[in-house]
Order: sequence, then structure tokens, then C-alpha cells
Amino acid sequence: MGFEKREQLYEGKAKKVYATGDPEVVIVSYKDDATAFNGLKKGTITGKGAINNRMTNNLMRRLEAAGVPTHYVQELSDRETAVKKVSIVPLEVIIRNISAGSFAKRYGVSEGILFDTPTIEFSYKNDELGDPLINRYHALALKLATAEELDQIQDYAFRVNDLLRGFLKEIGIDLVDFKLEFGKTSDGTIVLADEISPDTCRLWDETTHEKLDKDRFRRDLGGAEEAYEEVMRRLMGDQ
Ligand code: UDP
Repeated sequence: MGFEKREQLYEGKAKKVYATGDPEVVIVSYKDDATAFNGLKKGTITGKGAINNRMTNNLMRRLEAAGVPTHYVQELSDRETAVKKVSIVPLEVIIRNISAGSFAKRYGVSEGILFDTPTIEFSYKNDELGDPLINRYHALALKLATAEELDQIQDYAFRVNDLLRGFLKEIGIDLVDFKLEFGKTSDGTIVLADEISPDTCRLWDETTHEKLDKDRFRRDLGGAEEAYEEVMRRLMGDQ
């Protein structure tokens, strides 16, 4: 099964997307570029593109095997993957297990509080508006998704959380919070899309509580490259 890379369709902050000869399939190509604070902070995390590509694919394959439909089709190289062409539902779905980031700031609590029950929230994916927080009723009013689609997305998001927490616990990592995006295939099926990586998850070492994610870049903690490599090494071994 070969996918021929054709014209570039889109360039985002961390990835480029190319057409293929198959109208149902596109190729994503991961970059080393890192941004934070809605693009205000820019930099590079060397090797990040390859790590995020391989980590996302590893996790998507395991989620798919556990019954969560994803956009994953085939890993083509270190940085490139064939995925199903979808229209992205313009919502960022954020699940939290432990307080951190904007949650800690908004509610004036410290980071590191383990919740009894995971939380879910949505942001409206819109760079001009700065991805504002949005609730279910506003998402419906704006016709960003139907009620059934929102129910399906919420159900998948919590299942992904249960599964990912398990996969990461096995390698000594606590899944603090993360962001998911979902897409609709040409026949209207909702599938998990985008990426699952240290760019989109907060990952803390379960014993030292060391941050192994993009907060090292956001907060200028240093060692971002090493942190991404450490997660990759634990997840994939010598593969
Ligand atoms: N996140 C993301 N993209 C965004 C916003 C958040 O991947 O545009 C992830 C982030 O890495 C973290 C989780 O979603 O794992 C929750 O982020 P939060 O709302 O705390 O915002 P932040 O502190 O990252 O601004």
C-alpha cells in the first residue's frame, strides 16, 4: 500500500498536510517547530516531529485495537503518516485528571491535586479568538457539532482517558491532562484525529513528578528535547 505525496493542502503550527492519490487519505508531516500561548512564543524542539509522529501512531494503534475509531492509516516514515481525510470538528476536547495549567490558574488552586472524577471541557478552535472556552449549548448554537456527535465525542474522550492512563502508568507516567481533536470522515463517522504527544498532554513522572512535556518549553524549564526523548524511550523501548 503506497501513498504518493502530492500538493500541500495546509500548514499548521506543528504539522503540514499533503494530498495523496486517494481522495480519502492525506499525509501529515510533523515539524520540530514549537509554539505556545496562541503562537506568541515560538521555538524549536529538535527531534520533536519524529517523536510526536511515532508516539501518536503507537497510541492511536493501541486505542484503535481497544475499540476507539481513529484517523490512523499507516506510518510512512519517521515524520510522516497517512491518515483518513476528515473534516475537523472545531472543538478542542480537554480531559483532566490532576489540576494544572489553565485550570489551576482559573480556579486559584495549586497544580497537582488528583480529582476523584476526570473533567471534560471544550474550547472553540479559533486562533483569532484565542480558542475560547465553550460549553455544549453554545457549541450547538454555533452548529459546531450535533447533540449526538457531542455525546459520541465525550464518550470517546473519557474512554481514551481510561486507556491512555493505563498505557502511561505502565511506564511510570501520570497523565495529568490532555487535548484531543475529533474529525468526521466522508460518511459522517466521528474518529479521533490530530495527535497525542508531549505537545498535547501533560505527563509527569509518577515518582519524581518531573514534567515530561511541552511545559518545559512553555515555562522555559530547559531539557525539552531530553523530556520528549525520555517519554519516547519508555513508550517504545529500542523500537
Ligand atoms: N492543550 C493543547 N493545545 C491547546 C491548549 C491546550 O494541546 O491549544 C493541552 C495542554 O498541553 C494540556 C491540556 O491541553 O495538556 C490542558 O491545557 P490548559 O487548558 O491547562 O492550557 P495551558 O496551560 O496549556 O495554556
